[in-house]
Amino acid sequence: MITASSTLRGHIIQACLQLETTGLNRGTSGNISCREGDHFLITPSGMPTAQMHPAHIVTMNFDGKVIGTGKPSSEWRFHSDLLKHRPELNAIVHTHSPNATALACLREDLPAFHYMIAIAGGDTIRCAPYALFGTETLSHYALEAMRDRKACLLANHGLIAAGRDLDEAMAVAIEIESLCQQYLLARQNGQPVLLSTAEMQAVIERFRNYGRNVNSPE
Ligand SMILES: [Zn+2]
Repeated sequence: MITASSTLRGHIIQACLQLETTGLNRGTSGNISCREGDHFLITPSGMPTAQMHPAHIVTMNFDGKVIGTGKPSSEWRFHSDLLKHRPELNAIVHTHSPNATALACLREDLPAFHYMIAIAGGDTIRCAPYALFGTETLSHYALEAMRDRKACLLANHGLIAAGRDLDEAMAVAIEIESLCQQYLLARQNGQPVLLSTAEMQAVIERFRNYGRNVNSPE
């Protein structure tokens, strides 16, 4: 029987496959979660996407308990805390994508070098301080770096992207990986000229007016 839950589980697996085909994820480091009522679904720990079936997606409540069976991603804590504390977000994508991770290893925020930075909701994409993966401390840092944003970098680790649904969270993840690539390329050739606060405010206003469309309004 196809239910809303099984459709969402299938959608999560499709998104995991997309992370691989777009080069954002290799192996088993990436993970995805989606809110489903008063609980959430999350990808399992250490399982290659090719082996993943809907039944492998783990159900958890916001107290960190597994409902049913399965072992959730070791990063379940920040997924759970973000979904719990940010009711407007319903999907979280986490990857160790090469360019975002390279910038995260420099422990730098991604500045307003390009107007598309506004896709994350502000004029920077912050880099959270380093903490051991899977810990409450890392989750605390991630929540702080995600304040008023749909994305952040995690120092010496990777990227978190979020959205009101999984399609938006994936679009944010893919765009930010591309922005990090562009920024690192620009840095190899000089010092990128940053957009002003007023210039970025105009972009943020324009994006707001375009509503659901997270892509460039061109
Ligand atoms: Zn990770």
